[in-house]
Amino acid sequence: MTENEKPDPTAESGEKLSETRFSRTRKKRDMPGGLWLKCENCGQMIYRKELEEKARVCPACEFHFTLPGRERIALLIDEGTWHEYFTEIRALDRLEFNDQVPYLDKVRRAEARTGQTEALLCGTGAIQGREVVLAVLDFSFMGGSMGEVVGEKIALACELAAKFGRPLVIFTSSGGARMHEGVLSLMQMAKTCAALSDLGDRGGFSVCVMTHPTTGGVTASFASVCDVTLAEPGALIGFAGPRVIASTIKQELPAGFQRAEFLLEKGQIDRIVRRSEMKSMLARLLDYTKGTKIPAQKKR
Ligand SMILES: [Zn+2]
Repeated sequence: MTENEKPDPTAESGEKLSETRFSRTRKKRDMPGGLWLKCENCGQMIYRKELEEKARVCPACEFHFTLPGRERIALLIDEGTWHEYFTEIRALDRLEFNDQVPYLDKVRRAEARTGQTEALLCGTGAIQGREVVLAVLDFSFMGGSMGEVVGEKIALACELAAKFGRPLVIFTSSGGARMHEGVLSLMQMAKTCAALSDLGDRGGFSVCVMTHPTTGGVTASFASVCDVTLAEPGALIGFAGPRVIASTIKQELPAGFQRAEFLLEKGQIDRIVRRSEMKSMLARLLDYTKGTKIPAQKKR
């Protein structure tokens, strides 16, 4: 939409305007900033500090809120062992994409807001003493969307895991491919799958934990092809959204559709793990790979 095509709010009919006002007021009441917020699952008002103390798990219904990347790392990685890699890789605007705001302006805003250079944080560290390569997709950076940088960092994380002979642990929360990068973002689906396949061929071990929400091109690529796939309780996991599917197949969707519990029943994920138990579960899982040495073979 160009500047000239912007709808003029003063041209709205009285009825429409009051509707807009109503929805704005409602939105404000439902999602108060500051001290309190409303659980998106059970509707309970939660004291923000209490939620943060509980690693962002609803005290009333145990809904697992989306966790910012840095908090995830702090929760999982043993203190003083985190070493971050590839922070120097930054997004390029190859398509000169502009939807009212130029793409790179959006990236800069996300950088300023999150204090990080991209949606994927990648590094090495220890989980209860087990050394791993960890990649965490952060939803707060442009919806955890996958563009060239995220794809490249997943590929590099696979290479790092092979080089150090360490397991690769990935956490996802994403709206899917980054549309601002067009087909270059879609290409990352094939690239990340190839990188994980290569890691597997070289004797590597990978775990993906899908957290709320994991959708679109991320679900349809690297999140779904690791050796073990875990999920947090209640996580929304899917490709297209439920409304799109329901209107396409013209059928009512089953209860719990696209939630982790539904996908466990259907065999898409291996296990659901509570956030409070994630660290010990991963440590146990990583012990199964003990003794697995990555053979020193040349890349094909
Ligand atoms: Zn709740």
